[in-house]
Amino acid sequence: MYWLRDKIGRPREAHGVNNPEEYMRRAKEFLIRHGQRPILREREGPQPVAYVSDGRWVCDCDCGNGPSVDPEWDLAVCFECGSVWRPVIPERYREAERVLLARPNPANRHWFPDAKIARRVGMLKAETITDLKRDNRRMGLPVEISDEEVKEDALDSAPHVDNGGDRHGIDDEYPRPG
Ligand SMILES: [Zn+2]
Repeated sequence: MYWLRDKIGRPREAHGVNNPEEYMRRAKEFLIRHGQRPILREREGPQPVAYVSDGRWVCDCDCGNGPSVDPEWDLAVCFECGSVWRPVIPERYREAERVLLARPNPANRHWFPDAKIARRVGMLKAETITDLKRDNRRMGLPVEISDEEVKEDALDSAPHVDNGGDRHGIDDEYPRPG
């Protein structure tokens, strides 16, 4: 994954495309090559949250695929089903990228800024940027954590009384096939 050494992967790295138009064209070509009709669908309604997995920006498509996200284009095109998403881009994503890029191995760069996705991967809550910094420190990387952030973090890790409500919804939203 040498090509991800100094960047968090986006459609440019995943598919070699340089703009949204190329991204959509590449998706249509892929669908044709796989015997499907080259039709893309702009998806309405709630949009998936973008997150970083294995050094790449992705989001969850409802077909089960994890299309590549570009946070600046605010776009993800699913090559499996032709869905076009306008993912929710986490605030301060550039700061998160900087913290993740301090990790030399792209396979160690993950950020789950959404509580539901975080719980799905076994975390108790959404990951803050301070969480990422603390992980960097655990990895022995030099990290600055400000007093402000320590305070913020204490608030963050306080038990949330409002979490119980949507916990039962997880299975509905991520049904397992079969
Ligand atoms: Zn899809």
